[in-house]
Amino acid sequence: MLSRSLIHKSRAPFVIFLALFLIVCAGHKPTYPPFTEKSYDQVVENWLQRFSSKQGADSLVLLGTSTQDRPIWAHRFGQGSRTALVMGGIHGDEHSSVWLMSMCLDTLAFMDFDSVKIYVIPVANPDGLVKNTRQNANKVDLNRNFPTANWKPSAGERSYAPGPFAGSEIETQILVRFLSEHQPAFIITAHAPLACVNYDGPAENYAAVMAEISGYPAKSDIGYPTPGSMGTFTGDERQIPTITLELQKIESPERMHDHVRAVLAALKLLQNQIS
Ligand SMILES: [Zn+2]
Repeated sequence: MLSRSLIHKSRAPFVIFLALFLIVCAGHKPTYPPFTEKSYDQVVENWLQRFSSKQGADSLVLLGTSTQDRPIWAHRFGQGSRTALVMGGIHGDEHSSVWLMSMCLDTLAFMDFDSVKIYVIPVANPDGLVKNTRQNANKVDLNRNFPTANWKPSAGERSYAPGPFAGSEIETQILVRFLSEHQPAFIITAHAPLACVNYDGPAENYAAVMAEISGYPAKSDIGYPTPGSMGTFTGDERQIPTITLELQKIESPERMHDHVRAVLAALKLLQNQIS
């Protein structure tokens, strides 16, 4: 008896430590876990099933397939003569941007936009997302690959590799074609982790509305050059109001709801300006 109680006593600190460790681990489990190849397929399948039944199959638009043959989808909501584009996941290691798009899909499905057509592209770089890399499968940073006047063949750091030529990547070509065909009047692209509302083109009013709700500062300059970026292509060169909504790498559910509200407020501002 004595020896058993001694053993129990000697194990007690370990048991307490283990319990505390498990509690801490549970507390730090990310609410929006990184995508894996398997979980990504499940999430996309879920989106497709929900939206094809709820909105009608024609609300789903297959824009094309990625370098590794993954479909790149757009989900369409509302109707009207003008178009807005909301997009995430152009950088594959910015998973919070894709979770934000998932939440936007859920919210937009229950809203009425009668003078704006909204396209959501939840994942612009699916190959990068499942491999958790910024770049696409060809190791090109798609947000440095747009055919802008300031595109450069080298970008210094490898993670910003702009590709062999401007617009070389199939994912960039898909987006450029979408922009040409749909001529959006307003664009939001979600990124991470800089925690700010960056804007290009005449988008200061949208940025101010979003900054107030998201709690992140509005910035016209992100602090370093971004040749070949989508914001340069659409905002600076085509004068389409373009918001680059920079989230944090991991966001709490409460903050994510704030960011969804910020996106919706900007879309409503566009609608009010039209109607
Ligand atoms: Zn990014």
